[in-house]
Amino acid sequence: GLQPALHALVQGVAGGGLRFAVTLDRILSSTAIAPPVRASPTHPVPAAPEPVRARLRGVTFRYGPHARPVLDDFDLTLTDGAYLAVVGPSGAGKSTLAALLSGLLQPQAGTVRLNGVPVDGDPAVLARHRVLIPQEAYVFTGTLLDNLRYLRPDADERRVTTAVDRLGLGALACRLGGLGATLEPGALSAGERQLVATVRAYLSPAPLAILDEATCHLDPTAEATVELAFADRPGGLVVVAHRISSALRARQVLILGDGRPMLGRHEDLLTRSATYRELVGHWLGEPETARPPRPLPLGG
Ligand code: ADP
Ligand code: MG
Repeated sequence: GLQPALHALVQGVAGGGLRFAVTLDRILSSTAIAPPVRASPTHPVPAAPEPVRARLRGVTFRYGPHARPVLDDFDLTLTDGAYLAVVGPSGAGKSTLAALLSGLLQPQAGTVRLNGVPVDGDPAVLARHRVLIPQEAYVFTGTLLDNLRYLRPDADERRVTTAVDRLGLGALACRLGGLGATLEPGALSAGERQLVATVRAYLSPAPLAILDEATCHLDPTAEATVELAFADRPGGLVVVAHRISSALRARQVLILGDGRPMLGRHEDLLTRSATYRELVGHWLGEPETARPPRPLPLGG
């Protein structure tokens, strides 16, 4: 049936080794996690690494005073090495969650912390903690090297080249005439712009990466290459997924949408969440490229 086949696929795709590192506080409230430590002149932050990378607590977010909340009293904890896929139908709140986790949106209630630090919207502070790669990739006129080093100006060419090779941008770099070539954003396809944006984010020193459908214009193989490269980040990876393969690669899946958000392994969610089953059915029924329209039935 479907489940064993998917299970085999996820084993094949994910490999072993990554830790089971995401917990939903409300479900696993007994999970013992040290409270976040704050820096102060008399009590400097201890050298031991903070295991909690990101935490949303009691987060309620709505886009307007009369709008229905996108997230309502929502809790999520990401520890180091987390690899979480966020899924759900269009409009479920995936991008909203990515923006809250990144500090681009502030909740009306509850708290968002990165490494124990409240997310207050200071871009310089946020940039040290996380890198967000949005669906709409931004490329500016300048050299390919400038575009790639934007979040880490001190990266040497060797480091850049390694990232270019790792994420599969080599062919494009070659075609353009090398890292020193001048980019005209209009001359790149949407997928090429996304590849440039992913290498740029990959070079950023931020430990946690958040990909919000950042690879939607790439083919599944290129998408896998990018996601697996980011899955090595010490702080972890949150990927807003638009294909089943992304959910299968992740260690845990968070589904947003109808009813309460649910967190679990892919196999658990298949059993527990009707919304997830529906989504998986939709993904499996939809080819990677659009089907030609079916002829209308005649004489209906
Ligand atoms: P997803 O990424 O899962 O498709 P979003 O997080 O973009 O969903 O949106 C969640 C809900 O919030 C949707 O109902 C959407 O219409 C609404 N929404 C998103 N952005 C805005 C905005 N800037 N202003 C008002 N409503 C918004
Ligand atoms: Mg979205």
